[in-house]
Amino acid sequence: MFDPLRNQSNIAPPAHVREAESLRVTRATFDQVMFQTYVPANFVPARAAGSKIWDTEGKDYIDFAGGVAVLSLGHCHPALNAALKAQADRMWHVSNYMVNEPAMRLAKKLVDATFADRVFLCNSGTEANEGALKTARKYASAHFGDKKHRIISTTNSFHGRTWLAVSTGGSPKYTKGMGPVPEGITHIPYNDVDALRAVMDDDVACIIMEPMQGEGGMFPGSPAFLAAARELCDKHNALLIFDEIQSGVGRTGALYSYMQKGITPDILTSAKGIGGGFPIGCFMTTEKVASVMVPGTHGTTYGGNPLGAAVAETVLDIVNNEAFLKRVLVAEQRLRDGFAAINKKYDVFADVRGEGLWLGCELTAKYDNKAGDFMKAGHRHNVVFLTAGNNNILRFAPALNITDVEIDEGLARVERAVAEMVAT
Ligand SMILES: *Cc1c(COP(=O)(O)O)cnc(C)c1O
Repeated sequence: MFDPLRNQSNIAPPAHVREAESLRVTRATFDQVMFQTYVPANFVPARAAGSKIWDTEGKDYIDFAGGVAVLSLGHCHPALNAALKAQADRMWHVSNYMVNEPAMRLAKKLVDATFADRVFLCNSGTEANEGALKTARKYASAHFGDKKHRIISTTNSFHGRTWLAVSTGGSPKYTKGMGPVPEGITHIPYNDVDALRAVMDDDVACIIMEPMQGEGGMFPGSPAFLAAARELCDKHNALLIFDEIQSGVGRTGALYSYMQKGITPDILTSAKGIGGGFPIGCFMTTEKVASVMVPGTHGTTYGGNPLGAAVAETVLDIVNNEAFLKRVLVAEQRLRDGFAAINKKYDVFADVRGEGLWLGCELTAKYDNKAGDFMKAGHRHNVVFLTAGNNNILRFAPALNITDVEIDEGLARVERAVAEMVAT
């Protein structure tokens, strides 16, 4: 069978890659015909395997971004490809007027692996949070009345891009000019226990938080903050929602980060890594909470789509394994050692923090606001990573099965990018 840890970078590019496209497109096409809501890299990735990407010119890049913590098993993992192809030949879509086997198997595996009794399958992280928040308000309303509708969130948090998600998220720039936003949402600083205590009352339906803030700056949640959230939710009959869309599915070295932290939420949202690159998300909760969501209260056309479910089920089979999760922490140490060595030479990082294969290198004051420039230097030296926070953090979220060879090659390229930035 397959070995999830094997070095797929050595796999030759697929022979069937189409040479002649019906329509020639280049990076410039993006600027001509697509919404300019992103500023993508100036190369065009054409194929990928393991933790390596090749662009249309044939140049290779080490992928330390993992498609923003999505590619839990790297690019084109043989087991995921096999699951997707097998399901593609069997059945694509039937809608939620019927059940399907991969969706039920995936839900059963999630229930067996977590605190949850029930799973709602959707297509993205944003939808998972939207569903979780709707469920929390519905639960509060059903048991305590409509007055209990407040949502407590944290500043600088990221919860997705729908109206409710950007309103709940803690970045005002994402709602600017799009108001009025949904009511009843209060933001407090992350890891501020006193601020959390001060805003809690019996009208709170839920607290939503990431166990570690990713986009917001790679800040691990403090044990005291997470414990206080649990305690205050219990005291005020509110639900605790953990947004594990980025932290989940092995990213931190546990199947879900809440398991390491010893604080169990009432609702857990998951996406990104669970699909390994196929768009799928879900939220999970207890029997008691799920029971308020009766037929008609929520739905989605594609949620539980057999293709996505078949892939996610396979991701879970591979990641939910003690040896696999242990190795995430070994790889974390190798990356941390590499960053420390780079920093010793160039003195560019004020802090390196994070959990598992999810690390942030905060730049020193001298390079404040330059993370994007470092990222572009990375592209020039054939390595891809992300930014976070206030354009002052380099964010790394490689595939969980990245090999030592890929890590070392990636680090060497990061070092060259850092050297270029220091020299200019
Ligand atoms: C990415 C992310 C989301 C949004 O997920 P999408 O799939 O982009 O909708 C929500 N919360 C967190 C913590 C995320 O990292």
